Amino acid sequence: MHETGLAADVYRIARAAADARGGGRLESVTLVVGELASVEPDLIAYAWEAAVGGTPDEGTRLAIEWRAARQTCAACGEIPERAAGSWLRLCPRCDGALAVSGGDELDVRNVSFLEGEPVGDPRRRARCASPPAENAHAQPGGGIPQAPSGDQEPATAGGSP
Ligand SMILES: [Zn+2]
Repeated sequence: MHETGLAADVYRIARAAADARGGGRLESVTLVVGELASVEPDLIAYAWEAAVGGTPDEGTRLAIEWRAARQTCAACGEIPERAAGSWLRLCPRCDGALAVSGGDELDVRNVSFLEGEPVGDPRRRARCASPPAENAHAQPGGGIPQAPSGDQEPATAGGSP
């Protein structure tokens, strides 16, 4: 099930897109999915809930825009007699080989967010976060993880002044 990683990627991309425009909380995100991208509608919806859960963007709606693939026969042209999601190996009219186009889309579109409510650091935990489910492996002692060697700061991504 790759939907979990996909949902995390979609969220990261959407959050970055909103941040780049000074946006606040996400409202909805549209994901374009081709029918050949091996994405299960139920699984991606579930994975999305998990990806935004516990973040300031919890409850953001994920809209899926499905895109069909086209199959064409060199002799007969486009082959419409194909059930959605199913697949033909050979042309039903002449048994010729079929070419495929499209259907492998996997793109984030239409990130909408609320203006004037910047969420700050997206990695910050929500105030009322439920018990950490996936980060349950806390450090022994439960304190803040310490840098292994002295006070050397790691390079800051993003370049603070
Ligand atoms: Zn044909």
